[in-house]
Amino acid sequence: MFFETTRNKAGNLKLGLMGGTFDPIHVGHLVTAEEARQQFDLDYVIFVPAGVPPHKDNEMISLPEHRFLMTSLAVMSNPSFFVSRIEIEQKEPTFTIDTVRHFGSWKNPEPEVFFITGADAILEIFSWKDYEELLKLSTFIAVSRPGYSLDRFHETLDRTCPDMQQKVHLLEIPALAVSSTFIRERVALGKTIKYLTPEPVEQYIKKHGLYRVTR
Ligand code: NAP
Repeated sequence: MFFETTRNKAGNLKLGLMGGTFDPIHVGHLVTAEEARQQFDLDYVIFVPAGVPPHKDNEMISLPEHRFLMTSLAVMSNPSFFVSRIEIEQKEPTFTIDTVRHFGSWKNPEPEVFFITGADAILEIFSWKDYEELLKLSTFIAVSRPGYSLDRFHETLDRTCPDMQQKVHLLEIPALAVSSTFIRERVALGKTIKYLTPEPVEQYIKKHGLYRVTR
């Protein structure tokens, strides 16, 4: 990744890793990343499009290269945002622990890692590979949509792992009312997606005929 060879920050480095399928990326993701950057004083947010998500191998997902390119188009104007190919280049299912280990192993300076993703996904973290190590290596920012039950989130976390409360921060983002599913459905119905995703992403979807068929 270009970023790995150009970074030159001295002192503490706070790194946000924005994990997701990004099929496609939309304004909700961008607002989330910017809000997390500001609230947690992150130096950079690196978007990490999932390669073959371990829990989704039977579903139809757009090619990793399409998702990588759309994500790159979406973040290009923000100097604090980068995109990593680390997961999309894997042929086998990818696991968050390997991604976090990779970025956590940087030296000079060694970063403090914050993994940002949907709250629902984080509630399932106990089924993820090496989750105990993952909770030691990273802080989690669990992002929720309007209408999402925060009580349910806290109850589930309390019940399953009270120790985790300090490692998980919940962030509610009103702009996440937009979802990738909503965008895919609109494209399949021939409806406009203008302003739901940056214009270059909208053009990319059109040019490559993505999401024309309902899944
Ligand atoms: P997903 O299908 O892309 O998303 C699940 C839900 O969370 C959707 O509602 C999604 O909304 C939302 N979401 C996803 N990423 C988000 C983000 N960065 N910010 C805000 N909302 C987000 O995600 P997933 O495939 O479940 O996985 C999420 C992350 O967890 C990925 O990085 C994945 O690799 C990781 N994960 C790892 C393991 C493991 O290591 N074993 C297992 C499961 C998941 P949109 O559809 O609008 O994005």
